[in-house]
Amino acid sequence: MEPVMVDGHLDLAHNARALGRDLSLPLDRLREVDPHPETPLVSLPSLREARVAVAFATLFVDPREGGQADWQEEVYAQLALYEAWEAKGWVRILRESEDLEAHLSRFPQDLTLGLVLLLEGAHALAQPKDLIPLRQRGLRLLSLTWATRNAYAGGNAEEAPLTEAGKALLRKMEALGVALDLSHLAEEAALEALEAFSGPVCATHANARALVPSPRHLSDRLMEALRERDGVLGLVPFNAFLDPNWRRGDPRLPLEALFRHKAHAETLLGPERVALGTDWDGGFGLEAVPLGLDRHRDLWVLGDEGFLGGNWLRWLRAWF
Ligand SMILES: [Zn+2]
Repeated sequence: MEPVMVDGHLDLAHNARALGRDLSLPLDRLREVDPHPETPLVSLPSLREARVAVAFATLFVDPREGGQADWQEEVYAQLALYEAWEAKGWVRILRESEDLEAHLSRFPQDLTLGLVLLLEGAHALAQPKDLIPLRQRGLRLLSLTWATRNAYAGGNAEEAPLTEAGKALLRKMEALGVALDLSHLAEEAALEALEAFSGPVCATHANARALVPSPRHLSDRLMEALRERDGVLGLVPFNAFLDPNWRRGDPRLPLEALFRHKAHAETLLGPERVALGTDWDGGFGLEAVPLGLDRHRDLWVLGDEGFLGGNWLRWLRAWF
């Protein structure tokens, strides 16, 4: 079988809804019509041409805006959008283990993107049992917060520990078969969550804090803890996440900037646990990614089939 790509983090529904992007367009066409200053990196055809077999697709709301009812409404609207795409045959939502295997056997013929649904930040859950209806509609991955401190845990922008409600949510995830994404958690909360949670863990999109000193990225200690749990880290090819000195408007970085994070993460996690989590079009565009990477198909120049897809597939098959 020809190698396939897996992307551990894409905010597809957010792009479609908040930015009004028609992701069914070929990427070059989307670039012509898109009014935003950031040039888009992703459309469904650009994922298809790159043989992206699986993407972890987010349900994302910015918790700095609105309140609980708004967040819940938006999460369900994004879920409904993915379901509408599925009804049109544009994607397949992978809800259960048999979906994953059936998808992977069909993918070489039809190149239809498979989605693993990820709730990015649990702000929309008023209580842990609110996870149940989302799981029934296919959710398999959850990060406790996005940047801020919420009822469940501290985030990368607001340090705080894991709460009792956070522990209750982790127990609900274990019972329902929902994996934990450590991205955006405060370090303290992430280490506590690893203690409290016995299910599968990963970090869908983060880089090495040793190279970019920000709580948004994984410390060496957290990488070692992730390795002990056989978790996978998805690296983000975003210049500000690769080099702390890069600023918006600066020239694009060379690919070596990504290789430095990959080498560091591979030393701590083992090469089989380091993968891709592009987060492309998650708040930045073409101007902010390394030179030579203009769309997903360009990632194949990295030439590492495990990093580009096999490592996430192995992780998924172990628990999904
Ligand atoms: Zn995201």
